[in-house]
Amino acid sequence: MIRFASLGSGSAGNALLVESGATCLMVDCGFGQRETLRRLARLGRSPDDLAGILVTHEHGDHLGGVIPFARRHALPVWLSHGTFSAAKAVTNDVDLRIIDSHASFAVGALEIRPYPVPHDAREPLQFVFSDGKIRLGLLTDAGEITRHMRDLLSGIEGLVLECNHDADMLAASNYPASLRQRIAGRFGHLENGAAAGLLREIDASRLQQLVAAHLSEQNNRPSLAVKALSTALGCSDQDIGVAGQEAGFDWRQLA
Ligand SMILES: [Zn+2]
Ligand SMILES: [Zn+2]
Repeated sequence: MIRFASLGSGSAGNALLVESGATCLMVDCGFGQRETLRRLARLGRSPDDLAGILVTHEHGDHLGGVIPFARRHALPVWLSHGTFSAAKAVTNDVDLRIIDSHASFAVGALEIRPYPVPHDAREPLQFVFSDGKIRLGLLTDAGEITRHMRDLLSGIEGLVLECNHDADMLAASNYPASLRQRIAGRFGHLENGAAAGLLREIDASRLQQLVAAHLSEQNNRPSLAVKALSTALGCSDQDIGVAGQEAGFDWRQLA
């Protein structure tokens, strides 16, 4: 069984908990220390419950709070070599463990399969978690869908999927043209339609939990993201979760 919950999701900060048995991992931490503790407590967890922190990439909304939190609570941190070097995280008082972007590894009861994604960072990763039977995929901060992603996420039981923006809202926004191009570009962020396209292209027959994540507060609306995903799956809007910037989302379970 896998359980997962979010402390918050979006460009102002991200952190996800993934749990199997007694193993609880935090993925990214884009919040300050006090805020992280507050959000963990809301989900019934404390730093003592964590086996460590897994990092997707060096952008501040993901890495910002990781090093001070890991140092303070003596937690190991797993990250790619590119993320490590981009973060200049050379510090002898935090247990940093560099991972191979293509090799699975285990932490307690969780098996973690990293995979590279196109995003404007040094060596950005996303992950598929497994307890040996059930799989949970995480896919945010990716400019486009690749065949490798489709292969990995096909037949998955749970998915936290970026729905960063609505293409029309972004095009009509008052963002500078360069920023609009960065977000919509091949190394930017997934828009609602691209996320929905992934669901159409993979085997989604075993999907028990789907959560839209990393929504832009300016260039998206939860209702638009939900509608895009529910239309792609042919399911009810109520079946789709949304990870909020403030609220994240409460524990969900895959069995
Ligand atoms: Zn991000
Ligand atoms: Zn990013």
